[in-house]
Amino acid sequence: MQLLDGKSCSEQIRQEIAQTVSEIRASKDRVPHLAAVLVGNDGASENYVAFKVKDCAEVGFDSTLIRLDATISEQELLDKIDELNRNEAIDGFIVQLPLPAHIDENKVILAIDPAKDVDGFCPENVGKLSLGLPTFISATPNGIMELFRRYDIETEGKNCVVLGRSNIVGTPMAVLMSRNSNPGNATVTIAHSRTKNLTELCASADILIVAIGKTEFVTADMVKPGAVVVDVGQTRVPDDSKKSGFRNVGDVDFENVKDKCSYITYVTGGVGPMTRASLLQNTLKAHQRR
Ligand code: NAP
Repeated sequence: MQLLDGKSCSEQIRQEIAQTVSEIRASKDRVPHLAAVLVGNDGASENYVAFKVKDCAEVGFDSTLIRLDATISEQELLDKIDELNRNEAIDGFIVQLPLPAHIDENKVILAIDPAKDVDGFCPENVGKLSLGLPTFISATPNGIMELFRRYDIETEGKNCVVLGRSNIVGTPMAVLMSRNSNPGNATVTIAHSRTKNLTELCASADILIVAIGKTEFVTADMVKPGAVVVDVGQTRVPDDSKKSGFRNVGDVDFENVKDKCSYITYVTGGVGPMTRASLLQNTLKAHQRR
């Protein structure tokens, strides 16, 4: 078994980006600028946004964190998005999800200028992804493809099962893996909560990508010997032994699955750092396009 090390891969990507930023600086050009909108103070969202700001500083990007009260009205948030769309100094921005229940997430996503949608969530960017056109690809699936690329994982002709069909992970992941590309060219099945015979289906996968948010759901009997297993899941569970009071648990029973796999990611240092690096790549792309 070999660990797919997202931490070291993402460090390489950051170094490459930092190098490009120093060249931009040397040419006296404006450096890439990412803005992040955080509504309310959900603990996990606070963490994710703090990482995004820190990542920007590390590679030399400018960043702006816009904190809005959880009670903000939908219209006020849409006005803020309009302002960011028109702000020439900002190359791309993200609105951290989930949003408070009184705000329609779809309306918010639709309001973002596709040219600044570095999360790749807008219909225009999702449509371009489906058509195989250049676009901003949602950070998590893009990060997983980059991991496959850098580890030279063979995907062509393989049976790939993507467990989970969310708009931000499972569905774009399946599109990317089925594309005529390398990595890609896999025969892909998307599974979800209504899928029958899940154990048999997963056990038939040469490549199993799991994004369901159910702790240690994938057990050893669901994994084909020699499979490549990617665990996207990240669920906070209380843990008094940690300073933070919690630990992240993946969707795969890592300890019992790992020895069956050719390659596997671990919940820490796997997909998460690749997702963060992908957002930086998208922000750089947004800057270059302008
Ligand atoms: P989501 O929107 O909640 O979607 C979950 C998907 O899993 C749905 O398609 C659901 O099926 C399916 N599902 C739920 N229970 C299932 C079951 N028992 N059997 C089969 N399918 C089941 O999730 P998401 O946003 O994609 O996130 C998934 C996980 O990835 C979460 O733990 C999240 O925290 C994590 N995540 C991690 C990163 C990272 O960077 N590491 C990034 C994004 C997300 P239905 O459609 O039928 O309901």
